Amino acid sequence: MKHIFHVHTFRCKHGSNESDEEFIKEALSLGAEKITFTEHCPFPENPFNNRMEIEQLSEYIESLKNLQIKYQGQIQIETGLEVEFLPSMINYYKYLYELNLHPLIIGQHFFQHPDGTYSFDDKDKSDEYIGCCNAMIEGMKTGYFNIVAHPDRFFRRCKKWTQELTDISNKLIATASQYNIILEKNLSSYEKHIEKSHHIFWRKEFWNLVELYNQTTSNPIKTIIGFDAHSTEHMIKRMEYIELLNQKK
Ligand SMILES: [Zn+2]
Ligand SMILES: [Zn+2]
Repeated sequence: MKHIFHVHTFRCKHGSNESDEEFIKEALSLGAEKITFTEHCPFPENPFNNRMEIEQLSEYIESLKNLQIKYQGQIQIETGLEVEFLPSMINYYKYLYELNLHPLIIGQHFFQHPDGTYSFDDKDKSDEYIGCCNAMIEGMKTGYFNIVAHPDRFFRRCKKWTQELTDISNKLIATASQYNIILEKNLSSYEKHIEKSHHIFWRKEFWNLVELYNQTTSNPIKTIIGFDAHSTEHMIKRMEYIELLNQKK
């Protein structure tokens, strides 16, 4: 099935100004049978930038619900969110889950320290990948999330791959397998890897470990390809990268 997974909208403020419907129309002309919106998740009182406001959440849900009705029989439309796992927000995740937002995907762009502060305020960010990885692992165990977006991107500050990164990756992979969590191969990361040789976003080493894990387990890791589209242009362009990604498997 042709599935355009991981699409953002104008609400995150770093996407294009196109309407939700324009994304759906483009998905249809690309031959997709399913499109999954995963806007950057708002949090109560809007403490973070680069995402929709909490006041827009009901309008987001409503808009996509109306489009589901309008395009019924033509394309399946899912309303999800891309969410950082922050331990203090556990009740909020339960609330989102019960609102029937599906899928809730973990997109860990920073993490929360035990004292409640956030890693984006840290002076020294060299260890950020450890905190992000642990947050993803904790998030997977809650049962509210079923996909982890760009699990290899949190190594972006580590230029060289080390044994430590192998160990931490294996921990993440084993947890994903245990909790039946799908790992996303992110086309935005892959595009940077191919076009600009930015190998810090797309880590082949990580995906090799996933393959290795799958050869030795009775519960292999499932993966999904994510567009991470912030415009219809991204959708069109990244369609071609799927073929390239599949060829290089
Ligand atoms: Zn974004
Ligand atoms: Zn995204």
